[in-house]
Amino acid sequence: MAHVVVMGAGIGGISAAFESKAALGSGDRVTVVNNSPDFGFVPSFPWAAVGWRTRQQITFPLEGPFTKKGIEFNSSGVTEVKPDDNQVALGDGSTLDYDYLIIATGPKLAFDEIDGLGPEGHTKSICTIDHAERTFGHWEHFCADPGPMIVGAVQGASCFGPGYEFAFIADTDLRKRKKRSKVPMTFVTSEPYIGHLGLGGVGDSKGILEHELRQRHIKWICNAKVTKVAHDVMFIDEHDDEGKVIKQHELPHQFSMMVPAFKGIDPVAAVGDDLCNPRGFVKVDEYQRNPKWNNIYGVGVGIAIPPVEVTVVPTGAPKTGYMIDSMVTASVANIKATINGEEPSTIPTWNAICLADMGDTGAAFVAMPQIPPRNTVWMKKGRWVHLAKVAFEKYYLRKVKMGATGPWFEEYTLKLLGIKKIDS
Ligand SMILES: Cc1cc2nc3c(=O)[nH]c(=O)nc-3n(C[C@H](O)[C@H](O)[C@H](O)COP(=O)(O)OP(=O)(O)OC[C@H]3O[C@@H](n4cnc5c(N)ncnc54)[C@H](O)[C@@H]3O)c2cc1C
Repeated sequence: MAHVVVMGAGIGGISAAFESKAALGSGDRVTVVNNSPDFGFVPSFPWAAVGWRTRQQITFPLEGPFTKKGIEFNSSGVTEVKPDDNQVALGDGSTLDYDYLIIATGPKLAFDEIDGLGPEGHTKSICTIDHAERTFGHWEHFCADPGPMIVGAVQGASCFGPGYEFAFIADTDLRKRKKRSKVPMTFVTSEPYIGHLGLGGVGDSKGILEHELRQRHIKWICNAKVTKVAHDVMFIDEHDDEGKVIKQHELPHQFSMMVPAFKGIDPVAAVGDDLCNPRGFVKVDEYQRNPKWNNIYGVGVGIAIPPVEVTVVPTGAPKTGYMIDSMVTASVANIKATINGEEPSTIPTWNAICLADMGDTGAAFVAMPQIPPRNTVWMKKGRWVHLAKVAFEKYYLRKVKMGATGPWFEEYTLKLLGIKKIDS
């Protein structure tokens, strides 16, 4: 009888819990520890930030779906990971022993790395439901009294998609409110060029996204390092391809949303070098296991992945839902193999297939594998992507509430694209 403990109940953690429960024997235990009783569907947070979704529509209590499936659940959070003891300490003062630990705790948002960045400073955030809700409050005020706006992603960021999404969603919402002409918009990004996405570009992502920004009268600054944010001005160093500062901008803003750099969460980072890289991301081998403690697996945004390529201003590689699904499936298969006395043999694809919303249209991209050179790569724009993303939200939330076994990103995207299976 094995006990699998899953840390975190976000996109990676819930799939890991349901897939583990379905794959392992009836005598094996699965326990999930999250630091909140609720699940929130992160891809919908940009919509919540402009009031297109409410908290009630995209979050719900996890207890019911987990109980239905015989998965134990604790929402007091992990405060300490003790890999040598195979144990985690929890926020309610208890401890849990595990045979296998799946770390799926997502990102710590590193707003503190830039003076004035983040919701406690002078920029808004869409990274959590609390942030998105707060941002919507500011958005209403801003729309009543509009002015210059900045959207983008700072140095060290890896999650560029939501930055673009929010720029286009905000543009669409402002146009619906007949306020767009009052809002000069600038997209500020650490990417070396528009559409790099931390992936070295995907198909025609540069052309498509530049075109879209131009069409919507959104100016942009690339190779940008934000040095400081004051309440009405953002200070930005723009670099050339050699890394030399070519212009120092002092950009006025009345409303701005910048995606921060990510780190691993504190209790994971505190374990140190054997578990994590210097930014607290869990080191994993080709089977998603930590190289030192083979019974610890890492999935999702919280794992260490090297940047796809070196950029003048640091950028990271994004970890998206489809990729995360592949990490989960591999982790569960390898845990099952180990329990059965076999060697782990499942290697995740880490393929990236994404639907990026643009408010009234959208762009789908496929990068297989994520690290170039790639076997398959394309990006296509169309209203069908916006509609597909809205439909996916419903599909995903229904599946989780049912306690269905994933991988849901993979299942839905392959159906949508009319592909049966991707092997590499
Ligand atoms: C705004 C936004 C939009 C995105 N949109 C898309 C998209 O459309 N498509 C796509 O493919 N990808 C998207 N992504 C990227 C990625 O899919 C998401 O970030 C996804 O949520 C990552 O899943 P995760 O499980 O790694 O982390 P999360 O979903 O963030 O889950 C981490 C969980 O761990 C919990 N946790 C944190 N600390 C502790 C602790 N100490 N103890 C226990 N639990 C803890 C958190 O509360 C959370 O429930 C988006 C990212 C962002 C930020």
